[in-house]
Amino acid sequence: MNQMKNIVILGATGSIGTQSLEVIEEQKGFRAFALSAHSNIELLEAQIRAFRPVYAAVTDEEKAKELKIKIADTDTKVLSGVEGACEIASHPEADTVITGIVGIAGLRPTLAAVEAGKRIGLANKETLVTAGDIVMAKAKETGSEIIPVDSEHSAIFQSLAARVNKENYETEISRIILTASGGPFFGKTKEELENITVAEALNHPNWSMGAKITVDSASLMNKGLEILEAKQLFSVPMDKISVLVHRQSIVHSMVEFADNAVIAQLGTPDMKLPIQYAMTYPERLPMEGNKLDLTQKPLTFDLPDPDTFRCLALAIEAGNTGGSMTTVLNGANEAAVSLFLDGKIGYTDIVKNIRREMETHQVIANPALEEILAIEAEVYKRLAK
Ligand code: NAD
Ligand code: MG
Repeated sequence: MNQMKNIVILGATGSIGTQSLEVIEEQKGFRAFALSAHSNIELLEAQIRAFRPVYAAVTDEEKAKELKIKIADTDTKVLSGVEGACEIASHPEADTVITGIVGIAGLRPTLAAVEAGKRIGLANKETLVTAGDIVMAKAKETGSEIIPVDSEHSAIFQSLAARVNKENYETEISRIILTASGGPFFGKTKEELENITVAEALNHPNWSMGAKITVDSASLMNKGLEILEAKQLFSVPMDKISVLVHRQSIVHSMVEFADNAVIAQLGTPDMKLPIQYAMTYPERLPMEGNKLDLTQKPLTFDLPDPDTFRCLALAIEAGNTGGSMTTVLNGANEAAVSLFLDGKIGYTDIVKNIRREMETHQVIANPALEEILAIEAEVYKRLAK
């Protein structure tokens, strides 16, 4: 790469965001052009002092004011609100936008980046679950490249690069196989899941991530969301996407082709590879970190248990129904997980809330953005009561 690439990191203070900054620090050729955060201005200030971005966007208006005062001695310009995040995401000088915001709050800034034709390193899967049809159609129109950062989807993206005939895409791919770690509750019965605590749900065996995705991984909703994410990213029908539980998180996902060849991407569990690949694609750069040693442990594969992990079954159901049902699934899950993390509902109430919202929803076949946002707001309001 000859020219310095300007990277915008949405959600710079989170797990994906901080690891994206590590990649920028370790590799030449990338500059942290703009950083966003919701309210953690202490960490954002430290990042600003270390990386000297041109812009910082803080969604919480009060916190934006506080940050402005704190960093008055720097050259970084502070923007505020969702508009601020949208502005940096679509800035003419931005090359790649890493979407590390958690949840549906990522939708508008992601869409702003797509509308501006940017390359997206997409971590914020909820955006594709809730408004994938709109985002993918817009990307086609503007030429915005959406490169997955989610490790499974990065693995599929890399495996698909082995294809030779792009014209026969639909007939050549027979199946996408998403791998799932199974989370901390793999093998537990329905009864054993009754009294799960927040601390138990936050204890993931293989990955260290933000709170919401960690709870989603425990319930297997994360895998459900990833099925819907894969459906959008790779335009494959629901019946061509399957899930295998793979406890070691070494095989990050696979593609089975029509001739029964299966191509997979393997590696130690480290999000920095998919983050870096989204920035460097189609090139690969050397990377620090653990090399894979396949002699160390056996690789195992099991079928998931959707009867026990009902969130997975609900996500598949929402994907089969389509339209606004995936918005309801996503919004209800997000609201319920937030209530669970706040100690307001129990672990098994998460799935009960999602099911109730899905059962009472009148599906809109092709919802407009305003309808999606309205449905999410309604679901949130109802669950918060
Ligand atoms: P996190 O909780 O660690 O960080 C979330 C970031 O989003 C923070 O920077 C926060 O400031 C920002 N944010 C939160 N609420 C916001 C709001 N209302 N408006 C604007 N910004 C807001 O989360 P994470 O684990 O980094 O996950 C981020 C996204 O990446 C999620 O969609 C997750 O599913 C996806 N993802 C994460 C991992 C991982 O390893 N962490 C892996 C795959 C996919
Ligand atoms: Mg994943």
